[in-house]
Amino acid sequence: MSILRIRKYPDPVLRKKALPVKAVTEIERRLIEDMIETMKLSDGVGLAATQAGVPKRIIVFNPSCDEWRADALINPVISKKRGSEKKEEGCLSLPGINGLVRRSTHILVEGLDIKGRPVCFEAKDLLARIFQHEIDHLDGILFIDRINPMKRLMAKRKLKKELK
Ligand code: ZN
Repeated sequence: MSILRIRKYPDPVLRKKALPVKAVTEIERRLIEDMIETMKLSDGVGLAATQAGVPKRIIVFNPSCDEWRADALINPVISKKRGSEKKEEGCLSLPGINGLVRRSTHILVEGLDIKGRPVCFEAKDLLARIFQHEIDHLDGILFIDRINPMKRLMAKRKLKKELK
């Protein structure tokens, strides 16, 4: 297992649209292990492969921060959503930045598990938010794209200052 380097804004890789995984092989499983390890070490609740610079549609998540419950979803798709709630989000690729993002509270997610088997489950509240945030990453979308425009400007200024 190895720890991956988390790409930080404004790394252009974060704006790339990730490609679907055609077959879940040892390569994907190893990547998932590394992503889970990296997420745990960073105290994150979710991580997209895009954030590790790998343009594949893979996400890992761990809403309870319980290391045994971390899991992965490959080619995730949200097939249904309902409810809406604005809550604060942060991102390992945008350190020090937070913002209120409106997300669906209940979703139905489909994808493949680490063995390549189709899975479908319901997620609500925090887990639903994590899925929406991480799937956004796979499409090159960052949470600051979804916050109030004034706040976005402030966040970008802050990030620019930190880069100097
Ligand atoms: Zn993120």
